[in-house]
Amino acid sequence: MAANILLVEDEPGIQELLKLNLGQAGHQVTAASDAEDALQYLKSALPDVILLDWMLPGMSGIDLCKRLRADNRYQPVPIIMLTARGEEQDRVAGLDTGADDYITKPFSPRELVSRIRAVLRRRAPQMTEEQVDIAGLRLDPVSHRVTGNGTPIELGPTEFRLLHFFMTHAERVYSRSQLLDQVWGDDVFVEERTVDVHIRRLRLALEVSGHDNLVQTVRGSGYRFSVQK
Ligand code: CA
Repeated sequence: MAANILLVEDEPGIQELLKLNLGQAGHQVTAASDAEDALQYLKSALPDVILLDWMLPGMSGIDLCKRLRADNRYQPVPIIMLTARGEEQDRVAGLDTGADDYITKPFSPRELVSRIRAVLRRRAPQMTEEQVDIAGLRLDPVSHRVTGNGTPIELGPTEFRLLHFFMTHAERVYSRSQLLDQVWGDDVFVEERTVDVHIRRLRLALEVSGHDNLVQTVRGSGYRFSVQK
């Protein structure tokens, strides 16, 4: 489960150590040394996880966390707070701001890697490699195979990611811009009507087994993957 990680940490030693260890675990790490730097980066890219140091020069990690949580664009991105503080009270304050998890320095890189895996599984099930099976439609992220009632379904890479996202987020409505953020990720300059093009292709591919009606248009809102009519 390789993830794009934004590490916001001002201490060069810890930055280097984490870059090395997370890189070895297969993750791509981009480092920012303060909140301004992080916000600048986030304008053009959306990471899978943010590791956020509590004590930063300028805007604190807690304030940055609050700010990201108040913004729809960043709302789905898991945030793990890194901190030297271990007090129960601080821990509660950290989680209150909307952080998904909290890890106290010094921590072992191995522990951090397993925490990252846990938040990804919770917040972004499409990042995991578990097979998904809904109403006879089966998607295997490891072999990249999709079948509908046992019949193989051919999908392009974008349609595959789109279907994986839908199947792991069934019964919820997503706007075009939310789908762009979640499925296209980094490339936020894609136009919203691109989503419609790929939805059309996805439906066409799913017609083979009659699963196309699971991809539903919700007028005025966006799209939903649902087994209900
Ligand atoms: Ca710090």
